[in-house]
Amino acid sequence: MKITDPNSSDRTTTLSSLRAGLPFLWTSDMRGTPALANGFDKRLTAAAMARLQRFQPLVARLFPELASDGGRVRSELKQAPHMQKTMDVKQGKVWIKCDHALPVAGSVKARGGFHEVFEYAESIAAAAGISLHDRVEGLDAPEVRALFARHEIAVGSTGNLGLAIGTMAAALGFRAVVHMSSDAKEWKKARLRARGATVVEHSGDYADAVAAGRQQAQGQLNCHFVDDENSASLFAGYSTAGAELQEQLMTAGVVVDASHPLFVYIPCGVGGAPGGIAHGLADIFGPFVHCFFVEPVSSPCVLIDLATGRTDSVYDYGLDNRTEADGLAVPRASRFAMDSVRHLVAGACTVRDEDLLRDLYLLEQTEKIRVEPSAAAGFAAVRALCNSEQATSYLSRHGLTGHMQQATHVVWSTGGLLLPEADFRAYHDRGSALAAPCSMLVTSNHQAALAS
Ligand SMILES: *Cc1c(COP(=O)(O)O)cnc(C)c1O
Repeated sequence: MKITDPNSSDRTTTLSSLRAGLPFLWTSDMRGTPALANGFDKRLTAAAMARLQRFQPLVARLFPELASDGGRVRSELKQAPHMQKTMDVKQGKVWIKCDHALPVAGSVKARGGFHEVFEYAESIAAAAGISLHDRVEGLDAPEVRALFARHEIAVGSTGNLGLAIGTMAAALGFRAVVHMSSDAKEWKKARLRARGATVVEHSGDYADAVAAGRQQAQGQLNCHFVDDENSASLFAGYSTAGAELQEQLMTAGVVVDASHPLFVYIPCGVGGAPGGIAHGLADIFGPFVHCFFVEPVSSPCVLIDLATGRTDSVYDYGLDNRTEADGLAVPRASRFAMDSVRHLVAGACTVRDEDLLRDLYLLEQTEKIRVEPSAAAGFAAVRALCNSEQATSYLSRHGLTGHMQQATHVVWSTGGLLLPEADFRAYHDRGSALAAPCSMLVTSNHQAALAS
């Protein structure tokens, strides 16, 4: 395989910046190379769209909050002019894809997670000779629920994937078991238990929770393990976001073509959700979409994989995988996701926790949008694209320098709806202190002057 950064001094810079925990933008020169044969088959996107649609009537019945939208799980696309001004982005327009508000699951995990639960439900029903065709509502019948109750759906998660899988699996009548890492938040565990899911706590990190869950599921009859490190079904569900965004951009009158580039910035953990989204978008917009993945400086496993071609752990780079962005605290990338997107991702960048919290605060101040720390990661990438040498060189390599005035920047805000008020407030206050050191100084000087 071809390794990026043929110029080895670039590669050395990338790796030493990563080791030092410095925010860094890496851009790819692999775009357009042929996809690897063991990657994702894009026909699965259409199948996933059809499956999610088939389940809408049932979802509408199980979750009253979705009844008004006919059981469709989707998020808004909003322009963010005030945040854009605060960030001082002068070229193009900044939009937010509001997956933080995806109903029921409260995060980007909804499309992928629900899809895998539905696919498993259909396969169990089919194996029992229950034919559904266009009548998925039949899955709500008592005898079908009794069948599902004899089956288990298990998953390993830092939190949000567990919330999506556990909630939907329990709602359909399955036994739901969620293996959680030590960094998973208490309120997520409590919420899952309230929904009827079993939460198994593990002392290690995300990868340990996945490994433990996978092992436990293996020995068990009638158990399906949702493997976040290796799932085409999750990936297919995520990829349906491409058509959703296309529809919304069209409705908003936003053109995407050679002289109107589309930049999409997606917070990244194992790479499954951003990978699926990037895949769905690339199928539609081809070379005119440029997807950047964003990771915490302490957990840049996807950047390491992209830059070196090796699925190494962040611990091998002396990093500790500790971050407030719990949805992104992942030590090793998904091999499957990387094989599926290596040829189409534009780049990856890292962000410090201080910047996440400051942007979380600024977003609430400017646009009244509340996100969790992970979901604020995309804004740092917009700044990196507008203000770094690496980005300038990427834009000129792709003939985009003269078209940036017509650029569309879509920041994917990936989670936050279910975050308890007190947790949000704590992040917000820390972000506020980080955002305003100058004005605080003025205030305290002012007070000092008044006191004297
Ligand atoms: C899971 C998650 C991501 C990233 O998804 P991966 O598939 O792990 O790359 C981003 N943001 C939030 C809030 C998440 O929960």
